Amino acid sequence: MSLISDRISKNIKPSPTLMAQSKANELKAKGFPILSLASGEPDFDTPLHIRKAAEQAMNSGYTRYTPSGGLKETKEAIIRKFSRENKLEYTLNEVCLNSGAKQTVYNAMMATLNPDEEVIIISPFWVSYPEIVKLAGGKPVIVNMNPDKGFHLDENIIERAITDKTKWIIINSPNNPSGLIYSYEELKALASMLLKYPHVNIISDDIYEHLVYDNAEFHTIAAVEPKIKSRVLTINGLSKAYAMTGWRIGYCGGSAELIKAMSVIQSQSTSCPNSISQMAAIEALDGPQNHIKESNKEFAKRRNLTSQLINQIPGLKCNIPKGAFYLFVDCRDLFGKKTPNGKVLNSSVDIAEYFLEQVYVVVIAGSPFGAEGFIRVSYTTSEEQLTKSCAKIKEACELLFK
Ligand code: PLP
Repeated sequence: MSLISDRISKNIKPSPTLMAQSKANELKAKGFPILSLASGEPDFDTPLHIRKAAEQAMNSGYTRYTPSGGLKETKEAIIRKFSRENKLEYTLNEVCLNSGAKQTVYNAMMATLNPDEEVIIISPFWVSYPEIVKLAGGKPVIVNMNPDKGFHLDENIIERAITDKTKWIIINSPNNPSGLIYSYEELKALASMLLKYPHVNIISDDIYEHLVYDNAEFHTIAAVEPKIKSRVLTINGLSKAYAMTGWRIGYCGGSAELIKAMSVIQSQSTSCPNSISQMAAIEALDGPQNHIKESNKEFAKRRNLTSQLINQIPGLKCNIPKGAFYLFVDCRDLFGKKTPNGKVLNSSVDIAEYFLEQVYVVVIAGSPFGAEGFIRVSYTTSEEQLTKSCAKIKEACELLFK
């Protein structure tokens, strides 16, 4: 009998983004001059006022288990946030906190999926969605949006994927990996179509809500179409906009029935989110927000620089997305090219490997995001590092055209 379950050994892939990052760290530790464009987290420190709130929490005794769905005072801050920023009204039994938005998605799937029930995932998608669905015994149904139309939502294509077994559809805007922000009209059209299918629930993963540039507007589907609000689980978290990836705070608003079931999963797994982080979350949500504007200014500058440099590289092209901190770079023109070692590049994985081996730059292949022919470039690093990395990638691509 093998030690590792079939669930893991036959079905689930480890996170390719975390793997790429740890491979980069490993090579760096061995002395290779690695440049990484793989990170999925801001390179800024958590703002000081939030760190101070954590210190205060520790010193005032918030060092014990909390209720499994989270502290009442933190839930109240979340209710205020949803009301203030999203025009969504929830009550205490309609919100809960988790150890990161990843756990929010996980708990939701564990709490709702019966074997073989289906979850529609729009491609390109965050790599963890299909794996979490499989872990929970469900069936991911990938629905591809057209790369040549900028991956915008097409509700007609999505509608064709709905069956009697569809329990969820997951949407994510601003999107990881494409940086695309769904417009009000796109979300309205999707919601109008979903009104016809009352058995389908919707996860709106809004974790990149505040990472928007060029005065772009963020919308969340439960607010766009209040008639479907009771079927929507609106997910958010502190990791990205507040530079708090290590604090592990995610949260959500949804029906009381769902939130209760998710809290059962949590009570029998992690017990509760970190008590100190929960207290810091109140400060993050209620306290000054100007740091977001400042980091966004920096991200927008880096995005402009990186997209400009990438678009000068033979074989690569990208648009300038208005959200998140990624460029999703079209590398289809490199397919069929031969590397100096004689290897023919046939996939985004081949291309990511080539960049790593040839010029020590880490990018993430698009295929685990459901979009072959693309690579994800993250601009959460300094302009100097971005410039160096793009120069290295250019060097590698020029060799392919010789
Ligand atoms: N959702 C998306 C789309 C993400 O990209 C990530 C992290 O990369 C998460 C959720 C999870 O974030 P966390 O668990 O740190 O809150």
